[in-house]
Amino acid sequence: MSNEKPESQKLVLVVEDEKSIADILRFNLELKNYRVSTAYDGEEGLAKARAENPDLILLDIMLPKLIGFDVCEILRGEGNNVPIILLTAREEEDDKVRGLEIGADDYITKPFSMREVVARVEANIRRHAMPQRAAIDSAMAVSGDLAINTDSHQVFRAGQAISLTQREYELLTFLASHPNKVYSRVDLMEQVWNYGYVGDDVRTVDVTVRRLREKIETDPANPQYILTRRGAGYYFAVS
Ligand code: CA
Repeated sequence: MSNEKPESQKLVLVVEDEKSIADILRFNLELKNYRVSTAYDGEEGLAKARAENPDLILLDIMLPKLIGFDVCEILRGEGNNVPIILLTAREEEDDKVRGLEIGADDYITKPFSMREVVARVEANIRRHAMPQRAAIDSAMAVSGDLAINTDSHQVFRAGQAISLTQREYELLTFLASHPNKVYSRVDLMEQVWNYGYVGDDVRTVDVTVRRLREKIETDPANPQYILTRRGAGYYFAVS
C-alpha cells in the first residue's frame, strides 16, 4: 500500500457563523488532510457551494441571512447532490426530519465531538467517492420502466432522468441489487449508511424511503418498486 497513489485532497465547505466552531472544525479537518473553506452566513455559504464545488458541506442550521435549511433546499433544487451534513444546536426530531426531507444526507447535534464529525465526514465522502458498491451492470434496466446507470449514477423512469441525492441513489442501488430480499431498517443503516451504530437514527431510513418513493414511484402511496414488508423492513420488488 506504500506506493498507492495519494488521493487528491477533498474540499470540505464549513458554513458556520460561530467563528470558534468554524475554526476548530477547520483545524481538525486539516489535520485529516482535507482542504477547508469557510463561510460565516448562509448567503456566503450558498455562493461558495456554487463556486467552489466542495466534496462535502458541513452546514449549520441557524445562520444569518439565509438559514441552513434554505441553503440545502436551494442547492438540491439546482440539482446539486453534494453530501450535506447539517449541524444544529437543537436536538429536535422535527429539525432532523425536515433536514432529511429537503435532501440533507446526515445530521450532527451540537455539542459534538470532533471524532464524531470527522467520522461522519469520512463516511459521507467515502460513500460519495465509491458509489458502485452495488454489483449490478451499468445501464441495467432494473424493473418495469425504472433503469439505473451505475456509470453515470443516473436513474431513469420511462426514459426520463430523475434527480436523486447520493443517499437516495445508494439506497436504491443497494435494494435493487438484492431484489426481493427484505432488509430491516437496522440492516440498511449499517449497509447503506455505513454506520457502526444504530439507535433513533433508523427513522432516517423511513424518511429516505419516503423521499425515494416520491421520486421513483408513479403512485408513492402504492409503491411498485420499494415495498414495505410489515414489521420486517423494505425490499425492492421484482415480480
Ligand atoms: Ca449558528
